[in-house]
Amino acid sequence: TAILNVKNISKTYGTKGANAYTAIRNLSFTMEKGEFIGIMGPSGSGKTTLLNTIATLDPVTEGEIIIGGTSLSAMNEEQLSDFRSQQLGFIFQDFNLLENMSVFENIALPLSLRNTAVPRISATVQQASTLLGISGILEKFPAEISGGQKQRTAIARALVHNPALLLADEPTGALDSTNAAILMETLSDLNKEQKVSVLMVTHDPLSASYCSRLLFIKDGEIDQELHASNSREQF
Ligand code: ADP
Ligand code: ADP
Repeated sequence: TAILNVKNISKTYGTKGANAYTAIRNLSFTMEKGEFIGIMGPSGSGKTTLLNTIATLDPVTEGEIIIGGTSLSAMNEEQLSDFRSQQLGFIFQDFNLLENMSVFENIALPLSLRNTAVPRISATVQQASTLLGISGILEKFPAEISGGQKQRTAIARALVHNPALLLADEPTGALDSTNAAILMETLSDLNKEQKVSVLMVTHDPLSASYCSRLLFIKDGEIDQELHASNSREQF
């Protein structure tokens, strides 16, 4: 079954006329549950715009996005905000951890924001941190841990509420090649073993090699699409 339907979307910034810029043009694709899709393309081709529209952060100008059967265009701001915090997980290049919170508190954030009961938060954070190999640093603060550990903390936080779809924008961008490879192994394991659906924007060929499908964007359109020979495999 499809986790994501992107149907003929266009995104124009600015008002129509001389200032208008169309970053995405009539773009469509479907993502099945459990896929690991990489979005590649030159700078300015529209990758971040595409990810932001799917992330419900930016409305499309035309077309429709359906996530897990729900159309984003049918929701108001408040419903979108709830949908985002319940159905989506986010990983960013710069981790976006809160410096004055411990690793535990950072991971727990999506649950505490929803008033989850404390014992349940504790158990879920333990489980996510064990999965990511960071259960030993839960009391530390972001300033006290490595870049790789920060990104693993960010992934644990992105997954702790069991999102239907994990969205990642250049997740290895701030990591050295060793930590980048560890991160991609981790995402790949989560995809294969926990069946997490991952949509990732990347410039990095190494990161792209872990995807089951690659969409190449050029001038706001899908220019080329590559499938790993077997959908269970990576490139
Ligand atoms: P990429 O992520 O592939 O580098 P972006 O989606 O960031 O591409 O940008 C695509 C195009 O849209 C670029 O030309 C960019 O300058 C333009 N753009 C992106 N965001 C905005 C915005 N908020 N207002 C106007 N133009 C924008
Ligand atoms: P990336 O790391 O993907 O290259 P950018 O640096 O292109 O991201 O964009 C960073 C932010 O600035 C994004 O939120 C994007 O929407 C916004 N942005 C990009 N280009 C423009 C533009 N021409 N006008 C206004 N905002 C822009």
